Order: sequence, then C-alpha cells, then structure tokens
Amino acid sequence: MEKQKYCLNCGAPLHGRMDKLYCSEHCKDTWHNKRKSRIRKKRASVMSVLNNNHEILTALLQSGRTVWITPLVEAMGFKPDYFTRLVEIGSGSIRCECFDIRYDVSKTKLSRITQMPDYKKERQVENGQISFAAKS
Ligand SMILES: [Zn+2]
Repeated sequence: MEKQKYCLNCGAPLHGRMDKLYCSEHCKDTWHNKRKSRIRKKRASVMSVLNNNHEILTALLQSGRTVWITPLVEAMGFKPDYFTRLVEIGSGSIRCECFDIRYDVSKTKLSRITQMPDYKKERQVENGQISFAAKS
C-alpha cells in the first residue's frame, strides 16, 4: 500500500495520480506564487546588504584613509561575506568587488579600496572572446 500524500500548499490528502503534488490548480498557483515571493524577498535582502556595503565602501574611499580595521568596519554595518565578485584569494586575505569598488579584506584589515574603471571602456574583444583589461 502506498503512503498517503498531501497537497504541498494546503495539506489536503491527495487522490488520483501518484505524482500529483497539489489538490487543485488554485493550490498549485498559490504554492508557486508563495515560492516566487520568497525568492524575491531573499534577493531583495541580499541587494539591501550589498547596497549598504557599497555605501560604507564609498564613504571609506572618500575619507582618503587607506587601511581600516575590519571589526571597526563591521561595526559600521559592513558584511564581508557579501560581495559581487571574488577577484583573488591571497594569503590571509581576499580581493573582492562590490559593484564598482574593489578592496582587500581579511579578518583584521580592509585595505586597497579603489573605484573600478568603466568596464565598457576597458573591454577588449580578442579571437571572438571578450576580455576585461581592468586596471587596479
Ligand atoms: Zn491544496
């Protein structure tokens, strides 16, 4: 005897085909809409962290100071685990980008904060492949 299955959306017992996941089209649509909503909320929360990191990096860049203590920057709200690109992993630190700002970060310091050049101007096409000749 097969184990009773239940609708993923409302929990009602399912009857009929064995691969059925929902009791009705309404439940199927509702479940997918909830799923899409959760994904949108997650993306928005990640974008919010990235935007906040970018604002902090912009302020650090404008200060003119070149080396910052990571725990101090974290106390400002910076979250080092969020970045848009991992450029390089060095000994004890990583070089990351948050949109157009590149920086080195380790557990102890955040340094070499630089504004990236406009990639469109630096883009080169060689042998049909696009390469980026960004200067750091
Ligand atoms: Zn249902």
